[in-house]
Amino acid sequence: MEKIRMATPLVEIDGDEMTRVLWQMIKDELIAPYVDLNTEYYDLGLKNRDNTDDQVTVDAANAIKRLGVGVKCATITPNAARIKEYDLKTSYPSPNATLRAILDGTVFRAPILVKGIEPCVKNWKKPITIARHAYGDIYKNVEMRVPGKGVAKLVFEGIDGTVEEKTIMEFEGPGIVQGIHNLDSSIEKYARACFVYALANKQDLWFASKDTISKTYDGRFRDIFQKIYEEDFKEKFAEAGISYFYTLIDDAVARIMKCEGGILWACKNYDGDVFSDMLSSAFGSLAMMTSVLVSPDGCFEYEAAHGTVQKHYYKHLKGETTSTNSVATIFAWTGALAKRGELDSNEELTCFAKKLEKATINTIESGKMTGDLARITNLENVETLDSLGFIQAIRKTLDAMM
Ligand code: NAP
Ligand code: MG
Repeated sequence: MEKIRMATPLVEIDGDEMTRVLWQMIKDELIAPYVDLNTEYYDLGLKNRDNTDDQVTVDAANAIKRLGVGVKCATITPNAARIKEYDLKTSYPSPNATLRAILDGTVFRAPILVKGIEPCVKNWKKPITIARHAYGDIYKNVEMRVPGKGVAKLVFEGIDGTVEEKTIMEFEGPGIVQGIHNLDSSIEKYARACFVYALANKQDLWFASKDTISKTYDGRFRDIFQKIYEEDFKEKFAEAGISYFYTLIDDAVARIMKCEGGILWACKNYDGDVFSDMLSSAFGSLAMMTSVLVSPDGCFEYEAAHGTVQKHYYKHLKGETTSTNSVATIFAWTGALAKRGELDSNEELTCFAKKLEKATINTIESGKMTGDLARITNLENVETLDSLGFIQAIRKTLDAMM
């Protein structure tokens, strides 16, 4: 069989520990035999970030801006223990935070559904994707304890000298007060990223806030989403046969429980913090989640939602067998390859990526899986495989499909 060619390189971002081990296995067993891989390689392994004073992370982000699509392995965010373990020159920021800041992106996470690993909510038939706004609100708050009787005010002093002042509360006794903010520019970028993602995946978009109570603050979120929708996306959504739906956050929560899934749920910062944990645990496992960072100008970076699986790596180093689930990392590769194929009108590449996803799911549904899934599945006659054995089982399924 002739290998599938790639016109434009993919930005390949290597990482750390067990996921770095899986990374190589996935390339060797599941991609290189079928695709003439064309990548621009960036080694974000912690040692190389240290060697380059983290310049490699910045270069990788700029490469995604230039080429449009990247795939990233999980990486260590160094803490004090890691600085010692890797003998680092200094503490480096989270690579994901650096990438997110340069690409100005939003992270979208969606569960990978397989028969035998059932969501707790029985009517969820299709994945629910969640997006979380990553700026402002209570995460950048200013707060105070009020010691006793007195007045708390909200004051804005414009650079032109105008002053606007409102009383928050005339306190008769002790209490608490906080100030929060957001920026039109940040909300606009977030809204755009959500509309772009919904279109790319042909999913209805829901956005919710508490604008009945917070008429100005949450009302601003609602109005910005609405304006961007009407100006730039209404026609495209109609063409794609999808819809944009705004509702109150409590109504959205009630509807999510009753819906069958297949939607993108865009959340304000706090709502996203809370509901993303609810969704991922209700759907089963972190190793069965896809995660993609989308920039407002339409660049895509695919990754796994979990970390470098440190404990398994230490076992691996000792020569013990591991049973680490590679599904999220495989789907990071397939997401990136499919997107590259779509942008380059390379149908063969997109089709291959979809086949590899199907082969992965079929392998699990046939009872062959890693230990984390074997523990929670309701399938019978399950065969628990080691890290490489699982990947090789997927290759067998894939070969039979080719
Ligand atoms: P982790 O890698 O997410 O793993 C935590 C535990 O979850 C594992 O010990 C394992 O449980 C289970 N697990 C996670 N992924 C799994 C998989 N693919 N297959 C099977 N089990 C899996 O978190 P961590 O070990 O606490 O963090 C390690 C490093 O990852 C940290 O240095 C952190 O900075 C980094 N991190 C990176 C990212 C990223 O790059 N996106 C995200 C989060 C964390 P059992 O031990 O019970 O098997
Ligand atoms: Mg949280």
